[in-house]
Amino acid sequence: MDLDTIREVVVARERADLGVLGGSCAVLAGGTFLFSEPQERLERLVDITALGWPALTEVRDGLEIAATCTLAEFAGSVPGRELGAEVLRADWPGTALFARACRALVASHKIWRSATVGGNVCLSLPAGAVLASLIALDGVASVWTPGGSERRIPLQKFVFGPGSNALNTGEVLRSITVPARSLLSRTAFRKIALAPLGRSGAVVMGRREPDRRCALTVSAATTKPVVLDYAQPPGTAEVLASIDAIDPTLWFDDPHGAPDWRRHVAGRLAAQVAAELRVEAGEWQ
Ligand SMILES: Cc1cc2nc3c(=O)[nH]c(=O)nc-3n(C[C@H](O)[C@H](O)[C@H](O)COP(=O)(O)OP(=O)(O)OC[C@H]3O[C@@H](n4cnc5c(N)ncnc54)[C@H](O)[C@@H]3O)c2cc1C
Repeated sequence: MDLDTIREVVVARERADLGVLGGSCAVLAGGTFLFSEPQERLERLVDITALGWPALTEVRDGLEIAATCTLAEFAGSVPGRELGAEVLRADWPGTALFARACRALVASHKIWRSATVGGNVCLSLPAGAVLASLIALDGVASVWTPGGSERRIPLQKFVFGPGSNALNTGEVLRSITVPARSLLSRTAFRKIALAPLGRSGAVVMGRREPDRRCALTVSAATTKPVVLDYAQPPGTAEVLASIDAIDPTLWFDDPHGAPDWRRHVAGRLAAQVAAELRVEAGEWQ
């Protein structure tokens, strides 16, 4: 839709161009959310997609995903994109969560080609499956601060609640780094929605690291992603006990599912994810 409060769109070419952010001036990435509803408090947008950040970069201890990486690049689904093909390597099974997370969004491939990973993380919605996948893989956010420095924050601590996160005024999410131990992890994924093409009611993603440590991440069912850590692949009773121990105020309530239903199905999905991680390890309990 047209945003008739916007007076100017600035295309950032270098970091200094981000200095105008704050107040009535916001970051524009893919724009799939920003142009979907009125933004009455905004007068100016700064487009960050021309800053030339490589979408996916192998770094010393993992994979750096630029905030401007599109969902299509993230899912490795853009034909001919060498980085997508090169970086989403078979010996990094953890990257399988990327495409599964994109498919959990109720969005077409047209949206995938514009929407960015950073936009999904910064929106911080319960149904933000890309955000949840990066939390499930223990990602660390790199944030550019207005003074020209940078701070790092574990993504697990980034989201406070629906639409609320650790970004301060004028800050820009630069990237998320997924550590090598997560890239080497086996993963499992389950989603449920009230309607076949409906928004997610609950999504559970699991990670089993080479040293047997496991984490289950519950999202969509909760107001923010909840991570449950285990020293080894958990049994069903242990998983259900951890789900029962989640703060009852965190179960999300909206037209896509009541809190008691979400709590119930999250337990069922978490038990299935844990079972799949045990099967892959050949360790039925
Ligand atoms: C049909 C449809 C279905 C959708 N389904 C879902 C869904 O299931 N789950 C879901 O979570 N979302 C959904 N969305 C919302 C949105 O499309 C996605 O969350 C998308 O990933 C947002 O990315 P974007 O690049 O388009 O963000 P934009 O619209 O450009 O920006 C979103 C917000 O994040 C801020 N922002 C963006 N990048 C940065 C950055 N690097 N640093 C600081 N702030 C930044 C912007 O200022 C803005 O407030 C859907 C949208 C559509 C149109």
